[in-house]
Amino acid sequence: MFSPSIVYGLMFDEITASSLVKVDMACNKLLDSPFPVNPAGFVIHSAVHEARPEAGCVMHTHSRAGVAVSAQKAGILPISQQSTFVLASLAYHTYEGVALRAEEKVRLQADLGRANHLVLRNHGLLTVGKSIPDAFLAMYTLENTCRIQIDAMAGGTELTQVDPAILAGMADVMRVATAGLGSQLAWPALLRKVEKLDAAYRT
Ligand SMILES: [Zn+2]
Repeated sequence: MFSPSIVYGLMFDEITASSLVKVDMACNKLLDSPFPVNPAGFVIHSAVHEARPEAGCVMHTHSRAGVAVSAQKAGILPISQQSTFVLASLAYHTYEGVALRAEEKVRLQADLGRANHLVLRNHGLLTVGKSIPDAFLAMYTLENTCRIQIDAMAGGTELTQVDPAILAGMADVMRVATAGLGSQLAWPALLRKVEKLDAAYRT
């Protein structure tokens, strides 16, 4: 697996293609790299790759809104259109401290099951995709779901919940809403954007 998120020693905006570290499923480096690998990051990512061989990409973040919602007992609330996509494939994993012990993997795998979005309680967010575009767009939606939830709850008034019948029909809606393109609807445009912002990521 290649992982930008488990590389130690670089800011995210310093990471480029050649600074990614390639490791095998036992965390042995397969290519020379001066950068150490984050052991907790490895435990989490390798647990998912072991259990979900179709996963081409596993993405994990500690964003402010994601951690905030991960601490809320009720979890993701059905209060936005974004949340309806997340709730269609969502699981939770209870916090066990910094994930340094391989024994946590089996519980993480069992909690994730077939879901593509995972809220790591008191910790952050994780998404699984067949490809990098799939995992990224799942994370983009999950992150925005959390930001909206924090903003809506900060308003201090009672929130309207989405009708459960709408939530139940989301799998079909997702196919129609993206015109069958899935993550490819947005990914080529995102690449054009990053090329304009800073093409150094390629180096
Ligand atoms: Zn983490």
